[in-house]
Amino acid sequence: MRVLDRGDQLRKELDVARASGRTVGLVPTMGALHEGHAFLIRRSAAECDLTAATVFVNPLQFNPSEDLGSYPADLASDLAVAASAGAGLLFAPAVDEMYPGGPPGVTVRVAGVDVLEGASRPGHLDGVTTVVAKLFNLAGPCRAYFGEKDWQQLEVVRRLATDLSFPVEVVGCPTVREPDGLACSSRNARLSPQERAAATVLHRALITGATAVAAGECDPAVIRRLMANIVAKEPLATLDYAEVLPGRLLAAARFGTVRLIDNVHIEKLEI
Ligand code: AMP
Repeated sequence: MRVLDRGDQLRKELDVARASGRTVGLVPTMGALHEGHAFLIRRSAAECDLTAATVFVNPLQFNPSEDLGSYPADLASDLAVAASAGAGLLFAPAVDEMYPGGPPGVTVRVAGVDVLEGASRPGHLDGVTTVVAKLFNLAGPCRAYFGEKDWQQLEVVRRLATDLSFPVEVVGCPTVREPDGLACSSRNARLSPQERAAATVLHRALITGATAVAAGECDPAVIRRLMANIVAKEPLATLDYAEVLPGRLLAAARFGTVRLIDNVHIEKLEI
C-alpha cells in the first residue's frame, strides 16, 4: 500500500489507474480505523481494482465546543488496518494540504440538513459535504463507500453526488457492531469501562423501537417515547434525540463527554 499526503499525487495515481483500465474505490475516513472502516475497505477492494482509503480529521466538521482536539489518531495502526483490508493507497493529508490559507471560502451545503445531526451539531454536515466534495474532485470517477452508521451523512453525500454531478457512485454499507450490539466507532475508545457498558443502551433502544414497529406500532410519537424511556433508564446516558423516519429509527446520546449515534432499519412507516 502506498501512502500519499498530497492531493495532486492522489489525483495522478488514480488517473493512471483508470487510464490502464482499472476501476477505483474511495473510502473516506477520519482515521482511528476499526472494523467498520475495514468492512468498507474490504467491500471496495472486492468490487474495485484499486482502493484509496483516506484519513483526514476534517476540522470543518467539528464546531468549537466539540472533540476535534481529543479525536483519536493513530496513523501507524491505520496503515496496518487499511493495508490488511486491501487498500492500495492511503491518502493522509495535513490540514494545510486540504485547506491551504485557512478555512475555505467556498463551502457546500445540502438543503434541509437542519434536522437530526444538523440540529445538534450546527455546521457539521456542511463540513462533511465540503470535504467530501474536495475528495470527490481529487479522486475523479469512482465508487465511494460510506457507512449506514452515519445515516444522515450517507443521504447527504448521495444528494451531493447527484446534485453536483460528481462521477461517483455512492455505495452505502451496513453498520458493523461489537458483539453486544454497540456500533463500532472511533469514539468508543474514549468511553470509560462503565460508559462502554452503558453505551449498549443506544442499540437496545433502537431494537425495542424496531420490534414495536414490526408488531404493528405505527405512531411515531409512541415509538419515540419507547426509545427515549429505554435510554432514560440508563443513568450514564443522556439522550440527544430518538427519531422516526419512514424507513429508519435513529438515536443519539451522550455518555460522559462522548457523543454516539446509531440507527436501524424498519419497514416503511407512512408518516
Ligand atoms: P468516520 O471515520 O467515523 O468519519 O467514518 C468513516 C466512514 O466509515 C463513514 O462512511 C462512516 O459511516 C463509516 N463507518 C463508521 N463506523 C462504521 C460502522 N460501525 N459500520 C459501518 N461503517 C462505519
